[in-house]
Amino acid sequence: MKEIIANRAKLINASGIRKVFSLAAAMKDPVDFSIGQPDFDTPQALKEEAIRAIKAGQNKYSQTAGDGVLREKIGEQVKREFGWAKPAVLVTSGVSGGLLLAFLSLINPGDEVIIPDPYFVIYKHVVNMLGGRCIFVDSYPKFRLPVEKIADAITAKTKMIIVNSPCNPSGTVYSQREIKALAEIAAEKDIVVISDQIYEKFCYDSGYTSMGSYYKKTLLLRGFGKSYAMTGWRLGYAAADECLANVIEEMTKIQQYTFVCAPTPFQKAAIAAMDYDTSEFVAAYRKKRDLLYAGLKDKFEIVKPSGAFYAFVKAPSRGNATEFVEKAIRNKVLVIPGKVFSEKDTHFRISYATSDEKIRQGVEILCSLVS
Ligand code: PMP
Repeated sequence: MKEIIANRAKLINASGIRKVFSLAAAMKDPVDFSIGQPDFDTPQALKEEAIRAIKAGQNKYSQTAGDGVLREKIGEQVKREFGWAKPAVLVTSGVSGGLLLAFLSLINPGDEVIIPDPYFVIYKHVVNMLGGRCIFVDSYPKFRLPVEKIADAITAKTKMIIVNSPCNPSGTVYSQREIKALAEIAAEKDIVVISDQIYEKFCYDSGYTSMGSYYKKTLLLRGFGKSYAMTGWRLGYAAADECLANVIEEMTKIQQYTFVCAPTPFQKAAIAAMDYDTSEFVAAYRKKRDLLYAGLKDKFEIVKPSGAFYAFVKAPSRGNATEFVEKAIRNKVLVIPGKVFSEKDTHFRISYATSDEKIRQGVEILCSLVS
């Protein structure tokens, strides 16, 4: 039969997370630790903002770069936070949209992208699809930012370094010291850093340090989906200091021919979201983190996560992690095999964004699988 599928599509496999998510749909009452999105609903006030915008006829395209008021507000915020005098801002269709546009704008075939391992799945697959080369830098077993290994991995072909804090899948929040050290190395070698801060609001133990505070060539990616439980609204933004305005410009140009713009009525609601206090959700998630960690720490090798809503847990040493995940799924606990996020198959990811009761139930079952 004539081959119609493009080679680039064959470079990637379907998301291992989505596969488990589909399994969940077919199971009766499983403990679903698989998908990474908040279990609370979108705050009522923000839903009302979106409904108001729809009713007021804000249903057409917005400017490609985003709603003017929203962009202005984002610009003011990053100016205050990072001292960027003339920030460039692009509202994107989720952080995924921002990542795709950034990669399309920056990666030439053969370019190297340094990514701490374990990593968020999209990075690897999109970089591969574009003919880039992922250079994975091991951050096991503690999942700290592997600054020295990153420095050693830099070559003449290095195009960018990706930093994701709090990290999906490990839940690690990088310290100020780590971020500063990486900023120095990136500055010395003049390399762009993509800072994926989608889980930034979910930090449980200490303050948050952004690459943007220490390095001008930071391409900041932020999202609304996880912070305000509106993942289906597909909203995020890319922002940068003036020195990367050309990157944001290219991303905007490509957005014209791809996403066109982020969903207009939801951009209106995002203006209100930026003032919405999420501390109640964060407190609830801190408790969930504590519940999960306390339940697993005596039976599993687990680093206490300090952000996002994930734990990356070492599977019991017999066999590989995938075998343990299959066993967990047979016992109705849906977790994701670590190899989806890593070049190794030793761990599994738990998303604890579920009810406390389900966390207790899941912990009990997982512990019963370790003899
Ligand atoms: N970055 C990370 C680290 C994520 O975990 C996710 C979502 N799972 C995304 C980006 C994409 O988020 P969005 O839904 O805003 O596209």
